[in-house]
Amino acid sequence: MMSRKSECSVPLAVLLKRELTNEKIENPDILHGQARKNKKGEDFAFVKTDCQRVPGDGVTAFSVFALFDGHNGTAAAIYSKENLLNNVLGAIPSDFSRDEWLAALPRALVAGFVKTDQDFKEKAQSSGTTVTFVIIDGWVVTVASVGDSRCILESAEGAIYSLSADHRLEASEQEVDRITSCGGEVGRLIIVSGDEIGPLRCWPGGLCLSRSIGDKDVGEFVVPIPHVKQVKLSTAGGRIIISSDGVWDALTAEEALSCCRGLPADVAAAHIVKEAIQTRGLRDDTTCIVIDILPPEKIVSSIQPPKKQGKGVFKSMFRRRSFDSSTQSDREFSESDLVEEIFEEGSAVLAERLGTVYPFCSLFKMFTCAICQVKMQSGKGISVHTSSSLHGRLRPWDGPFLCPSCHAKKEAMEGKRPL
Ligand SMILES: [Zn+2]
Repeated sequence: MMSRKSECSVPLAVLLKRELTNEKIENPDILHGQARKNKKGEDFAFVKTDCQRVPGDGVTAFSVFALFDGHNGTAAAIYSKENLLNNVLGAIPSDFSRDEWLAALPRALVAGFVKTDQDFKEKAQSSGTTVTFVIIDGWVVTVASVGDSRCILESAEGAIYSLSADHRLEASEQEVDRITSCGGEVGRLIIVSGDEIGPLRCWPGGLCLSRSIGDKDVGEFVVPIPHVKQVKLSTAGGRIIISSDGVWDALTAEEALSCCRGLPADVAAAHIVKEAIQTRGLRDDTTCIVIDILPPEKIVSSIQPPKKQGKGVFKSMFRRRSFDSSTQSDREFSESDLVEEIFEEGSAVLAERLGTVYPFCSLFKMFTCAICQVKMQSGKGISVHTSSSLHGRLRPWDGPFLCPSCHAKKEAMEGKRPL
């Protein structure tokens, strides 16, 4: 879950080169449906299928699907639903090409999540929210997540992938260690008899999650820095399911997928919610978004079950020719038509998320705060590496830079001093 960028990831440059040299691949058709049963009314879904990287240019279209599962009220979920997309897009320079835009997205998601959290906390409201944020551009799917609303993918080839992280304290010793080293306490509820009950929680506050947007009353060590995963589907497509914990507490990924296999997206979403409630009862808000990413000509057959048994046939049918295998990477990946991992990073350390290997870093504006995008005078920005363990190493470029307010936020998230 917390893995650093995987050694076996396909370099983005390889994918882009392959796209350029191969036959033109049409964009997929995207069909979606959503369903919800409320218990507390703190789940919010966001769907926007007509986004454009360049306003007015339909060729630059992309889609966004998000789920916000609020706690201790609805304010954080509603605020994030209304502001997060703009904060993410605002962190990407407007003149980027599609390739640059996709490569910049993981970093822009980190900036957008942190800015949204910071702006919300300034409003002095006490609620918090999980976020599962999915951006689909062509066959490339990018998922940023904090909390425990999960996102899974089943490829047309029949493999299941987890695209989000589970930030329950119960699920990650690494996150427990991070929070305790930042001054938080992690433990279970102790009842009158002295017995410990329930899941691990961090104190003060008693939140079971290590990451969220909001939760001002818990502490800055509950950070909004998302796990980000970017994958590229084969042209056979796949199905994505985003659900709040109301579904995942009742159903495994396999159960959720198999209970609606063969059904169109809208019917599938309703079916998953029904299945979850039948299994466990309506204990929590239960929300589900189903997204089918389909080859354009495959819409009619979307109601057919995937041909798991015909995997080989399926693969060879859609395999693209490789005209140029001049590099090792090309040779290594040219035979693969399964889901390809482009990027995965889950670190809670801002310097690692904003400043590591990054192909287009020099295109970022030098005098703009990497989080809130405020303009800064030359020399006034504070390097994101300041006071981190990376400080002092030889670096060709010392940025990105933060404004004083975002630097203070970074220090607070690392437990260095309170805001
Ligand atoms: Zn700033």
